[in-house]
This record gives sequence, structure tokens and C-alpha cells, in this order.
Amino acid sequence: MTGAELVHLAYLASVALFVVGLKRLARVRTARQGNLLLAGGMLLAVVITLVEQGRVEVTWIVVGLVVGAVIGVWTVLRATATSMPQVVARFNGFGGAASAFVALALFWDEVVDAAGSGTAIERLGVASAVTVALSVVIGGATASGSIAAEAKLWGRLTALTRIPGRSVLMVASAALVLAAATTSIVVADPGFAAGVVVVLLVTSAVIGLVAVGPVGGADMPVMISLLNSLSGLAAAATGFALGNTLLIMGGTIVGAAGLMLTRIMCVAMNRTLWNVLAGGLGAMPSGDDASAYEHVVSSDAEEAAMVLEAARSVVIVPGYGLAAARGQHSAAELADVLADRGVQVRFAIHPVAGRMPGHMNVVLAEADVPYDRLVEMDRINRDFAATDVVIVVGANDVTNPSARQASGTPIAGMPILEVDQAQRIFVIKRSLSPGYSGIKNPLYEQDNCAMIFGDAKEVLDDLVQELSAATA
Ligand code: NDP
Repeated sequence: MTGAELVHLAYLASVALFVVGLKRLARVRTARQGNLLLAGGMLLAVVITLVEQGRVEVTWIVVGLVVGAVIGVWTVLRATATSMPQVVARFNGFGGAASAFVALALFWDEVVDAAGSGTAIERLGVASAVTVALSVVIGGATASGSIAAEAKLWGRLTALTRIPGRSVLMVASAALVLAAATTSIVVADPGFAAGVVVVLLVTSAVIGLVAVGPVGGADMPVMISLLNSLSGLAAAATGFALGNTLLIMGGTIVGAAGLMLTRIMCVAMNRTLWNVLAGGLGAMPSGDDASAYEHVVSSDAEEAAMVLEAARSVVIVPGYGLAAARGQHSAAELADVLADRGVQVRFAIHPVAGRMPGHMNVVLAEADVPYDRLVEMDRINRDFAATDVVIVVGANDVTNPSARQASGTPIAGMPILEVDQAQRIFVIKRSLSPGYSGIKNPLYEQDNCAMIFGDAKEVLDDLVQELSAATA
């Protein structure tokens, strides 16, 4: 077998790993294995591409792999269930930056440092030259946008929330990007082309920052999945520039998947993509607190357990606070105790509960909650009116009835879990502080609702204890 045939075989193997890995990702039970297969496929693809292209010495390939692995392992080991969106934002940023730098390196090799004179179009061909510029633009904007998204999720970069003259800045930057991208591929002077391509990268990075900076509140998940899609598109553009089919394919899959997820998130939050990018509605308000509530009934685990003893159907609504308290095992135990008493018990899953898409599914899967107990929002909403008891655990925005208003709040129009229609509602959280969107939740003032103030895990453990004692 020749070297070229071996390379093709390795490409085919990584494509097979991508396809099987993606299929396995579709089910929670096989997702972990799917992830490993995809990572293996990507590793194989990267190594084979670098070997085939012959542009990088083996020593540097190994150095790159080690540095990448160290950063990856370090990031993931430090990540908690609640900081996953930041991790996703960071990895999106790395994807965008990698594409932009590979395109820049190609430009440097073939245009700036190459002997003789000639434009990028003459040296690379129209398609490659254009996609190099595209890759620098999309990759640069994705990298800076992802850095901004991560910083905002950590509660930093608050100064960027209001950018005076943002629209004018965006239009001016877009015009400069267009001019720089065109100039970079048509000028023959290598020094000038190098300067222009650097301007292109910096201006694209400014666009990323200005676009993501003011996005906040409930809209950040949509922005993150859009950035994910853009990182795929940047990789696909780099694939075109390099003439690498595998990169085109992998990038397109990520781009398409990210775009689909963006659409799903927009529908789940009742936002148009334009509305998210415009930033206004998603901006985080100053936040209401206890003073915003007039009459709130508080309860405790003992009283809630007594009500649960008589219940036939119970729905547990997990939210960000459950993940923050690492209370998933306690929630799973409570469900088991209730089920042992013959109660129909289910978990209601809102698509944007928590801080990343699918957050609640991941958290509950960690506690081995059986999949048939997890019910998606549209299905469970039909059942709330006939549910005896709803236990809201560390969820707030996703249960807020004021989302039904057409406008006026950051979550206006977002579909919610309609827990307010249940017979009895217990809300477990530490205080009357607002959720991510920063607004009051009128659910807490309803006559059929009682608050159990405390850490989610501790209260759930108390509930399990009370119920177990009653059963014994
Ligand atoms: P929220 O952010 O609305 O509310 C979470 C609640 O958890 C808070 O009110 C807090 O109240 C409580 N809490 C925090 N820690 C604890 C604890 N240790 N024990 C008990 N309670 C605790 O969460 P939801 O899941 O309801 O909604 C998610 C929100 O995040 C939505 O607005 C969504 O748009 C947004 N978002 C979603 C992303 C995603 O992809 N899923 C990404 C980014 C944002 P207290 O402090 O009083 O305890």
C-alpha cells in the first residue's frame, strides 16, 4: 500500500469515527462513548492532515499535541457542572482562533514569504484566496466573541454591556473588513498584503467583541450556540483554503449542528436571532429581591413531606440551583423514595434550564435518573393541571409566569414550564433572589405555592429523610 493510499484510508477511518460518534451522541446512554469516538476521529484527522501536508515538522506536531492536551485536560479538570457554558465558549474560541491562525500561516507561506511577486489570487487561486480571507474573518470574530461570552458568563466585562454608537461601529467595522479582505487578496506587494491581513484579523476581532458584548441575560445560550456554528464555518473555510476535504466536512457538520441548535434555542426562548444580536432585550436588568414580594408563604421539609405522603403524582422541576448545589443525587433519591410509595414521579426538563443546552439532562444522567422519568417541556405542560405536587428545585426563570407577557421583561415570550397550574407547588431555593434574567417571579406569591428556603441538596436530603421516616 502506498503512502497516499494509507492517508486516504486514515481519512476514511476518521470519517467513519465521526459518523458513528455523532450517532452515539444522539442518546444520553451512549453519548460518552460517542464523544470519545469523535475525539479519536479528530486526533487521527489532525495528525494525518499535518503529516500529509508536510508543512510542520514532527517535533512541532508532538509539541502542539502535548500543549493542546495539557490545556484541554486542565480546563476540563477545573470545570464544574455549572461552569460548562464557559468551557464550551472557551473551546469555541479555540476553534475559531485555530482556523484563523492556520489561514494566516497559509497566507504567510504562500503570499508574504514566498519568492517572487504575485497577488494571493494568483498564487492560491480565487477559491483558496477568498476562503483564506473568510477564515481569518470568521475565525477572528469567533475567537474574540467567545472570549467575551466566557468573560460575561463569569460576570466580567460588564463595561461592554452598553457600547455607545454600537450600530455605527458595527457598520464601520464591517466596511473595513470588506475593504481589507478584498485588498489582502488583490495586492501584489507582500509587505502591504501582510499589513492588510493583520488589520483584517484585528477588525474581525473587534466585530466579535462588539457583537457579543451587549448580549446578556437569557440570550447568552443562543449566542454560544451561534459561536459554535461559526467556529465550524471557520474550520470549513480553512478546509477550502487548504484543499482538505476532511476539514471541510468536519467544519460543515459543526456549522450545521450549531445552526440547528441556535434555531432550537431561539424557539425555546422565543427570540429571533436578530433580536439576540441586537442585544437590547437580553440585557440583564438590575435585579429584584425580597422587597419586590408582598406576600410569600414559607414552609419546610417536614410540612412538604406530609403533603407528598398524600400525593399520587409529583413533578420535580430542576434548574440551575440544583446543579449549583450538586443536589442531583439527592433529587434522584427523592424520586426513588416517592416511586417506592407508588407515586408517579417525573422530572420536567426545560430546554434552557441551567446554564447550557441540555444542562439538566447531563446533571440528572450523572445521578442515573432513568430516562423515562425525564419529560420534555411540551409534553409535561399538558399534565401540570392534574399534578398533585410540583417541587421546583433551584429553578426560577423557567417557571416564571411573567414570561407569558408579550413584552416588558427579559424573558417575555419565552415558553415556560407551567408549574403555576399544579395543585400545590414547593419552591426550594436559598432566598427570594432572582434567577439569571434578574426579575421577580410572581409564582412565589401564588396561594398554591410555598417556599422552602435553603440549599437545594440539604433540603432534598431533609425531604428524603422525612419521607423515609414516614415510610418506616
Ligand atoms: P435561574 O438562573 O432562573 O434560577 C436559578 C435559581 O437557583 C436562583 O434563583 C437561585 O436562587 C437558585 N439557587 C442558586 N444556588 C442554589 C442552591 N445552592 N440551592 C438552591 N437554590 C439555588 O435558573 P433556571 O434554570 O430556572 O433558568 C436558567 C436561566 O439561565 C434562564 O434565564 C436561561 O435563559 C439562562 N441561561 C441558560 C443557559 C442554557 O444554555 N441553559 C445559558 C446561560 C443562561 P437563590 O440565590 O435564592 O438560591
